[in-house]
Formats: sequence, C-alpha cells, structure tokens
Amino acid sequence: MLRHIDAHIHLDKYEPDIQHSMLSELEEYGIQGLVAVSMNLASCQENRELQRRFPRQVFPAYGFHPEQELIAGEELDQLFAWIREHRDGMVAVGEVGLPYYERKQAEAAGRSFELAPYTRLLDRFIALAAELKKPVVLHAVYEDAKIACDLLEKHNVRNAHFHWFKGDEETVRRMAQSGYYVSFTPDIVYEAEIRALAEMYPLDQMMVETDGPWPFEGPFQGRQTHPRMISSVVGEIAGIKGISERAAAETILQNTKRFYQI
Ligand SMILES: [Zn+2]
Repeated sequence: MLRHIDAHIHLDKYEPDIQHSMLSELEEYGIQGLVAVSMNLASCQENRELQRRFPRQVFPAYGFHPEQELIAGEELDQLFAWIREHRDGMVAVGEVGLPYYERKQAEAAGRSFELAPYTRLLDRFIALAAELKKPVVLHAVYEDAKIACDLLEKHNVRNAHFHWFKGDEETVRRMAQSGYYVSFTPDIVYEAEIRALAEMYPLDQMMVETDGPWPFEGPFQGRQTHPRMISSVVGEIAGIKGISERAAAETILQNTKRFYQI
C-alpha cells in the first residue's frame, strides 16, 4: 500500500465522532499522519489535545488564520505566549498568512480593507518561527505571496510551506528557487491552474493536503473531505510528472517528513 501524510487539515473543525472514526481508519488508507493546523488559540488548544490522545497520528501547528477578523492587545499576546509555552509539541507555526479572499470580498462589496495590520501580524509570526526554529505554514496566494516571500527573506526563514498555493509564474519561480514547499489539494483533479502549477514546481518541494473539512468539487462533490482523498492527489501528480504513483507517493512522503521533522 502507498503511504501518505495529509500535510494540512483543520482536524479540530470536524465533529468529535468524525475525528475519531477518521483517526481510527487512517491506517487502512495508508495515511501515516496529519499536520493539524490551527485557526486561533481555542483551535491550538484543541489540536494539542488531539495530539495528546493520538500522538502517532496528529502533528499540530499553532497560529492564527488570516481570513478572519484580527485580534490585538492582550488577546494576541496570550496567543503568542501560549505558543511559546507549547513549542515542544508543535511541528510548525501555522496557519498564518494574509487575507486574500476576505479582502477581495470586501473590495467587491465596495468596502475598504486595510491589509497593513495583517502584514504586521504575519511579520510577527514569521519572526516567531525564526525564534522557535520551526517551519511556517502559509496561507498567502496570488499577489500576497510576494509579501510573504519578502518577510521570509527579512527573517531568514527558509522552511516555508505555502499551502494550496495559486499565483503567477514569477512568484512560483522565486518560491521554488528559495526552497519553499507547496502543497496540492484534491482540486488538482479538476483545476487547470493547479495542474499547471504541478507541472512547473519541483517534485522534491511538493506535499499533499486536503485542507479538510473544506469541501471539493468535481468527483468529490457532496462528499465529506477525508484524508484518504490525497491518494487521488498523488495519482494526479504522478501522471503530470510522468512517474509511477509509488515513486510520487514515496518522494512526497519523504518531503513531508523532512520538512516537518516527523
Ligand atoms: Zn487551512
């Protein structure tokens, strides 16, 4: 059986009974582990608890998702203090980044949107990754990726994972040359833009993910997102790169283990 790791999932967002059934059947599907990213402090705490109960399968990342209203002051300090205190169990800082979709939505509705506070927060999180010597999981797509690249360079952070990335060719080249990783979701099966990225990006810097419970379209329409779906992602990558599924699965698994040190 091929072996995989789901490199980006919001495990804490599933109902407890679904979490349990999912974790208990991972082995059946060759899934060796899940990188469980966090949305905010409550989400960090829940992922830490899931890791405590399923230590061989759950690898948590702690951060603050950018597609939501910002927190500040004491609430933000509390989050940073908590992450520093629980650094031992964490595999990365994440999910952090910039609010591309929230911003586009606001702009489409004619509302103004201030990006600067989000950029300042991302700067702090990347500095935290440097301080803790941990990789960083980024939500930074299209033009936002350039800002993220600049901040990574500023703090000399090389271990960056741009999850579910989409962007222009120039940025893609810059990211590949900088040694950054990108991950692919089940939408590689039906999105031409994502397939083109997979063609361009080096296999040695690729991972696979579901971003579950985010729902997918095409053949996945109406199905609850489950880590087993990443076998389809690996299959597509193998086809695009012209290699066997076994070779693709093994390389991607080793990339993920090396990147997250798991
Ligand atoms: Zn995510």
